[in-house]
Amino acid sequence: MPVSVANQIPIAEGLFTWPSNDPRLIGSKCKKCGVVTFPAQNSCAACSGVETESVELARGGKLWTFTIQCFLPNRPPYDGPETPESFVPFGVGYIELPDQTRVEARIKTRDVNALKVGMDMELVIEKYIERDGKDVMSFFFQPVDELK
Ligand SMILES: [Zn+2]
Repeated sequence: MPVSVANQIPIAEGLFTWPSNDPRLIGSKCKKCGVVTFPAQNSCAACSGVETESVELARGGKLWTFTIQCFLPNRPPYDGPETPESFVPFGVGYIELPDQTRVEARIKTRDVNALKVGMDMELVIEKYIERDGKDVMSFFFQPVDELK
């Protein structure tokens, strides 16, 4: 059954294109030095340039580094769906995209112990929590091998 996007809202505006069959993270590119940043910024941390343009980032990249979060994050600010009873460790890492932009993201995987630096990852947009009857969608990166 096709998934309805009518009941889905992105976790924040301007983070990724949604709804889309080919969702992309939205970053900013410095018009002066070309550095790409995610999330998008109005100025450049690399050269202090103040002119940036919006760019859609590549969906695929390599796991640059990661760690495994073995405890439930403090709430607030964390508002994830887990309880102390349902919590399972999850990966958090940086994915390096082809233009060398590094994106910090939660990692979706069936097996945190199989994560390896350098593995191919791909952007996935999935339900994060339910709020006010809506599915709040967020972005994750998942090993490409698990998507085949
Ligand atoms: Zn710059």
